Amino acid sequence: MLSIWESGHFHRRPQVVVIGAGITGLFAALFHKRQHPAHHVLVLERGAFPSGATVRNAGFACFGSPSELLADRAVEGEEAMLVRVEERWKGLLELRTELGDVNIGYDPSGGHELLPVNSPLYTRVAEAFDGLNKSLSHIFGAPPFQWDESALKQMGLHPGYCLTRTELEGALDSGAMAMALLRKAQESGVVFRGGAEVQGLKELPESVLITLSTGEVIAADRVLLATNGYTPGLISGTDLRPARGQVLVTDPIPGLGLRGTFHLDEGFFYFRDVALMGDAPGSPRRVLLGGGRNLDVAGETTSEDGLTSLIQDRLEEVLQEVILPGRSYRIAQRWSGIMGFRTTGKSPLVERRGERMVIAAGLSGMGVAIGIRVARNAAELLK
Ligand SMILES: Cc1cc2nc3c(=O)[nH]c(=O)nc-3n(C[C@H](O)[C@H](O)[C@H](O)COP(=O)(O)OP(=O)(O)OC[C@H]3O[C@@H](n4cnc5c(N)ncnc54)[C@H](O)[C@@H]3O)c2cc1C
Repeated sequence: MLSIWESGHFHRRPQVVVIGAGITGLFAALFHKRQHPAHHVLVLERGAFPSGATVRNAGFACFGSPSELLADRAVEGEEAMLVRVEERWKGLLELRTELGDVNIGYDPSGGHELLPVNSPLYTRVAEAFDGLNKSLSHIFGAPPFQWDESALKQMGLHPGYCLTRTELEGALDSGAMAMALLRKAQESGVVFRGGAEVQGLKELPESVLITLSTGEVIAADRVLLATNGYTPGLISGTDLRPARGQVLVTDPIPGLGLRGTFHLDEGFFYFRDVALMGDAPGSPRRVLLGGGRNLDVAGETTSEDGLTSLIQDRLEEVLQEVILPGRSYRIAQRWSGIMGFRTTGKSPLVERRGERMVIAAGLSGMGVAIGIRVARNAAELLK
């Protein structure tokens, strides 16, 4: 039993419903609303607030380490690798322009890759390094990667590695980014509804019926499914699968020399320095470390949050042996997040499903960089 005020405003039939309030869903809602100011654009999110990978990631603003790009080139060819790097780079620039560096806590601290001295991985990267830099130069206007011989010692890392560095990558505060984006979407007139878990979708000739876990049914003109790794739980017939990532953060470490974002073991481990909300300015920084999914690919192909001792123990070994050799530490917090991968490759899935539904998912652990561009493409398909 609704009043005319409720049915005329809060329960007005939406032209667009976006399911999932991550970077993809919120940007797509914002872009659609900008193009169609009169439309009622409703974002349904099952968490009270955004609660997917967007707020559980490591906050790397990166376009790919040398070994990652060489692996991509080996699988997909030079052209596809370059196109993706350009997408990631443009996405990062657009994200920073759209939300502002201060609002997203952007820190241009540089991106790095650790390569074990004299390892096959080092040899592979060293042999291809100059050629890779050359082919990437047209995207960045200059070669992006350098070898950095002095930083390893300054940062207190294990000496058995060689380090590559790019000045063009950085780190951000993913919570601040999501807050700024949600605020901007709401200021544009997008309506956010947390605690709204979608259980079913049915496309009819004149609408899409969205059933919530409460039993409520919402009819919308169009729907964008921006549920990334959770998408297989809502619809079948895609090549998407979930992939869990586990993370830990230490207490502040006095004298920590680590600065920037780092990839290790072909990107299977990643770490950075970080400060938490509430850490006093200038106080010692912490280490954030994640990865290790390759240790149990089958077990981590899940959309259930959780931590396992297999991966957490390995993360602590990496922390002790590679990042903080000879130093003591305490773990302050651990969490997991769910990514969305495609079985057919690394490019995201952005496509129309039927006349009224669009899917934008499968951001493959690159969503900080490409989320805004995936959202722009999705908003185009919603027209
Ligand atoms: C541990 C970890 C580390 C990462 N590190 C990085 C990094 O450093 N740099 C980088 O670029 N990328 C990183 N990523 C990947 C990046 O976070 C994602 O690619 C990106 O956030 C995906 O955004 P999204 O909006 O598509 O999905 P999500 O942020 O997952 O949003 C989907 C939303 O849908 C909601 N939802 C799901 N099911 C339903 C339902 N039935 N009803 C209503 N709502 C629903 C979820 O609650 C969620 O809020 C990392 C990911 C993880 C997990």
